[in-house]
Amino acid sequence: MDRKEYFADKKRVVVKIGSSSLQHEATGKLNFTKLEKLVRELCDIRNQGIDVCLVSSGAIAVGRQVMGFQERPKNISTKQACAAVGQARLMMTYQKMFAEYHQTVGQVLMTKGTMLDNVSRKNAQNTFEELFRLGVIPIVNENDTVSTYEMRIGDNDSLSAIVAALTGADLLILLSDIDGLFTDDPRENPKAKLIDVVEELDEAVLSMAKDSTGSDVGTGGMETKLTAARIATLSGADMVIANGKDVGILHEIFQGKFVGTLFRQHFDEDFYVADFIEESMD
Ligand code: GLU
Repeated sequence: MDRKEYFADKKRVVVKIGSSSLQHEATGKLNFTKLEKLVRELCDIRNQGIDVCLVSSGAIAVGRQVMGFQERPKNISTKQACAAVGQARLMMTYQKMFAEYHQTVGQVLMTKGTMLDNVSRKNAQNTFEELFRLGVIPIVNENDTVSTYEMRIGDNDSLSAIVAALTGADLLILLSDIDGLFTDDPRENPKAKLIDVVEELDEAVLSMAKDSTGSDVGTGGMETKLTAARIATLSGADMVIANGKDVGILHEIFQGKFVGTLFRQHFDEDFYVADFIEESMD
């Protein structure tokens, strides 16, 4: 398979970045150098005529910094209060950085309810479509401030795949703190090998999903990434897991030369993302 050709005709991409990739490990504060590079990369993809959507975590992590909490809050209402403060701060930071490249961004906050209710799902879909038409980059997160346990999607790997399905994106990129899918947990088994391409999400692949990301800031391990892969590939989007430690990997992906795992799409006309959420995500 020629990877260069493979990525050359992508029209709409959803990029997900997690909290652990956005902040300095030692202090938990935002890594502005990295954020700026991410913003530049996304604007450059947009400038090539590709629709771009960013799914960014960080609401709770940033809020916790602003409020001066040493640890990740456990109490739900404290988390939600952090999300309210942090989401606004995060958007302010993004808006300022994107403005340097004359790129308009918009905020879209979703919950499971947005997807389960036919009217709100259709509304969200129309809004995304209009934002893309207007050249805006939507920045998406879960609406952590109001989403109660029952109504949460819970992790942004799944959320980004749901967004890819809803918007008919042809590529989803998960920027993670790991290079991709390995045959075993590379932190424990030095012989673990990175898998380049996953043609099909069969039992062998699913059994490789161990909770292998060591971060205490994000919520996604390999298991949520494989759920995301299922949603994305069945909806017709290819999915890439790549390491977000250097976000320059984004243009390498579009050039088709990168280290990471590509999950090839398997469009299934009987797959409905809302039904999948209702049946298998609780
Ligand atoms: N929505 C959460 C936040 O912004 C993050 C969820 C996740 O990282 O998967 O803090």
